[in-house]
Amino acid sequence: MELIFTYFFLIIFGGCLGSFASMLIHRLPVDDHLITLSKPRSFCPQCKATLDFFQLIPFVSFLLNKGKCLKCNVKIRINYLINEIVFAVFVLFIFHTMNLLDPITWLIVSIVISLYVQSMMDMETLLLSQPISIFLIIAGLGLNIFVEFFTLPIDALLGLIFGYGILFCINQLHKIIRSTDGIGSGDFLLLGGIGSVFGASSIGPILLMGSSITLSLYFLKKKKEKQLPLGFGLGIGAIFYCLLFLFLSDA
Ligand SMILES: [Zn+2]
Repeated sequence: MELIFTYFFLIIFGGCLGSFASMLIHRLPVDDHLITLSKPRSFCPQCKATLDFFQLIPFVSFLLNKGKCLKCNVKIRINYLINEIVFAVFVLFIFHTMNLLDPITWLIVSIVISLYVQSMMDMETLLLSQPISIFLIIAGLGLNIFVEFFTLPIDALLGLIFGYGILFCINQLHKIIRSTDGIGSGDFLLLGGIGSVFGASSIGPILLMGSSITLSLYFLKKKKEKQLPLGFGLGIGAIFYCLLFLFLSDA
């Protein structure tokens, strides 16, 4: 019985993390001083009506309203529900692989949220948040220098340099050949952050996984755009790398 309550609580908590991620994904790229991370309260993107308290409860709100806004009846994008489910599953995974009382666990959770937000934001808007990438760099270096969690301190430092450097160099080459930027500078910083967290040795596999994910997204999408969201693939690739690492180190 106790375990059922624990699971229930964890799923709701994961759902809240998912809503928090949705909020960051939708608000960070908005260039409007009236919409900040803390204000205004959550509202319907269509009719701008403020959501009631019970509409803020993860899963419940979506199911009760059958995925529609109560005021204007317009369908709410399924992405909100997907983000809640993804994080509910993630929190259950963390519960089984890590110690919830250890502060390092929560640093890892915030790293995964950051990677997820960067991915989804890049997919929707082709924008990446600089403060989030800087957070990844600081968190990664701190985690590996002080507790050698994912890798050795020197590998984390090299990861920052290689991650940033490799995309920077590819872009310089592209500039020489085609005289335009081929890769956004946001991607350099993101891969630098990923390198700081998982080490220089992770850059190869994550870059390979990331570009394959981004290319598959391109082929799956009906509307072909000129720019590809490389950051989307990098973020998802890094999350897979992280989950595999936690799973293997737990086993
Ligand atoms: Zn509405």
